[in-house]
Amino acid sequence: MRITKTVEEARSDLRELRAGGRSVGLVPTMGALHDGHISLVRAARAHCDEVAVSIFVNPTQFGPNEDFTRYPRTWDADCALLKSEQVDLLFAPSSEEMYPRGSSTFIEVADMSDRLDGASRPGHFRGVATVVAKLFQIIEPDKAFFGQKDAAQVAVLRKMVRDLNFNLELVVCPIVREPDGLALSSRNRYLSTEERKQALVLSRALRHVEEESERGITDSSRLIRSAGEVLAQEPSVRIDYCRIVDPDTLEDLADTSSGALAAVAAFVGSTRIIDNLLLPPAETR
Ligand code: AMP
Repeated sequence: MRITKTVEEARSDLRELRAGGRSVGLVPTMGALHDGHISLVRAARAHCDEVAVSIFVNPTQFGPNEDFTRYPRTWDADCALLKSEQVDLLFAPSSEEMYPRGSSTFIEVADMSDRLDGASRPGHFRGVATVVAKLFQIIEPDKAFFGQKDAAQVAVLRKMVRDLNFNLELVVCPIVREPDGLALSSRNRYLSTEERKQALVLSRALRHVEEESERGITDSSRLIRSAGEVLAQEPSVRIDYCRIVDPDTLEDLADTSSGALAAVAAFVGSTRIIDNLLLPPAETR
């Protein structure tokens, strides 16, 4: 596995990897890798000839009171894991390499960047869109792999790719969960044993929404109400949002008949976690 920390070196490595018309798949991450990330790496391996992974804890997507400085950084374990997955290139730039002094250009996907997580985390999607656009420019992947876990991020990036004519395909991979239902996340390691148990209420609430939908209920306010009843079983979990939206525009949907995204974010202790469920169109449920 080639490891590069500079843009110039990454570009020169990629010229070699791409020789003879080989395709490149990119998996952008912030490190502290888990099986969710690895599922993206394996998808990239299945779709592309060469697999590039980036590890960059992107300062511009964290708010001033968020966890940028204490975000888990597990470099040695991440490298070992990526080597064992036979990743071809690991791009791990410093903040200064990605945002040289005087850097002042940002990407804002208007309208969408203040919905769901964007509403609770002002500036978050501006940071995400900017860093992903930069990674696309540096790596020039044929395909880029993202997790459905971050459903709002997927919607914002899909729109960005369309609006800015990026010449690549976004591939979205399913949420990887623990056997008990908890969606894997680098932030789960912040949870105490007690909090981890409480955190299960998110996937439980979404499962309840799924069951109600399968019974033919399509009224969003009713589905949200019943999700709320499950969430209330853990009074110490503070709900940030629990909504049913259009998965492409992230706008609220009154009815789920044509398909919908049920998304929830909550604070368990001081840790913010998210989870979601895609509801297919009613006729296919
Ligand atoms: P992060 O390192 O948290 O920025 O995540 C990097 C990529 O991994 C993003 O595309 C996430 O959506 C994806 N990801 C994170 N957790 C999961 C999961 N549990 N299942 C699938 N993909 C995930």
